[in-house]
Amino acid sequence: MADRQQRFTRPLSSPTCSLVNTIKIIVVFGTRPEAIKMFPVVHALRAMPGIETRVCVTAQHRGLLDQVLALAGIVPDIDLDIMQPDQTLDSLTAGLIVALGAVFDAEKPARILVHGDTLTTMAASLAAYYRKIPVGHVEAGLRSGDIHHPWPEEVNRRVVACIADLNFAPTLAAAEALRQENRAEVSIHVTGNTVIDALFATRVRIRENPALAAGIEPLVTRFRGKRIIAVTSHRRENFGDGMANIASAIRDIAAREDVAVVFPVHPNPNVRKVMDAALAGLANVAMIEPLNYPNFVGLLDACDIVLTDSGGVQEEAPSFGKPVLVMRETTERPEGIAAGTARLVGTDRARIVAELATLLDDRKAYEAMARAHNPFGDGRAAQRIALAVADALPVSAAFAEERPSVYV
Ligand code: UDP
Repeated sequence: MADRQQRFTRPLSSPTCSLVNTIKIIVVFGTRPEAIKMFPVVHALRAMPGIETRVCVTAQHRGLLDQVLALAGIVPDIDLDIMQPDQTLDSLTAGLIVALGAVFDAEKPARILVHGDTLTTMAASLAAYYRKIPVGHVEAGLRSGDIHHPWPEEVNRRVVACIADLNFAPTLAAAEALRQENRAEVSIHVTGNTVIDALFATRVRIRENPALAAGIEPLVTRFRGKRIIAVTSHRRENFGDGMANIASAIRDIAAREDVAVVFPVHPNPNVRKVMDAALAGLANVAMIEPLNYPNFVGLLDACDIVLTDSGGVQEEAPSFGKPVLVMRETTERPEGIAAGTARLVGTDRARIVAELATLLDDRKAYEAMARAHNPFGDGRAAQRIALAVADALPVSAAFAEERPSVYV
């Protein structure tokens, strides 16, 4: 099993460097999934003496991002609020580089940290590189091997790898991909994925305060006695025919009496218009607004099957022991497939319906996939990342005479 072989190369011990003064780090992100995966890192860095952690959000996805910031108790120090109606990849990339460059000129951080594969991530890395500011990359090394899937994220992530001097690979496979590209061994730290940190922290919060995830209860009550399929879909490469096929497949499967579909619909019009046209008014389909994170965690817990094209959801669902059908042709997260908890089903209507029917009707097939499993991390990735960041900080001799070491 992939998780049994997992080894984390960053030990959970104190940093080995002597910190002598407070050094500024800027953590940059812009979308909901980045915020979910970076809030544990921000908290871990803020617990680290000698580091001043500033948070810069680009708000590439305004509404969805703000929900997570509120939950995590993070108020951004810098909010670029860059989202525009109908933004193109060109205009967004150009705007992000200019705006982030100006932030780095004003703030003069000793390092920036970015996450994953978004335009914010790539633009921040380029703007930092143009100023010779070192870049740490959280969730480095995921590769599908196909620059068009996921698009444009596969290339965004590869660009950052050319620049980063700290590569935080979530798994051994991701670290190996970086080695194959000749990234310096010293730059690679296998940490686990911070999504598992976020998930564990959120489960604890829900246990302490069930009201946080109570929003999902009315749907669970409405669909009691049915098998619940949780659906998310927003991939750019599925826009058009792919999205139409997904909508038709959901329509087909929801015709069954024993099935209910709960679908938090992404606000992107390429998703929303198609889903509204195909699924509005169906008795067994609840199309709802995107859920805040605790309620989405509640949905993963309550459902029977997950049907998704999301990256993060592929990583979270195995923790709940829920079979995941991945509506992509390829994935940069093969660990769930290797573990047998996820399956690639693409966006062919008949294939999606057939795979769902197998899981619904064949108990053995369902049980073979429904195993609680954490191939992506152990919940302590953020701590490992914060320690490696502290290890890599520059030590100033001038400050050493003026101020005592924070720790040695
Ligand atoms: N998520 C959420 N509410 C929703 C749907 C998803 O909080 O209604 C969370 C989910 O738990 C996961 C993340 O959003 O952590 C995934 O985001 P998305 O699918 O948009 O992006 P990707 O992971 O594909 O980059």
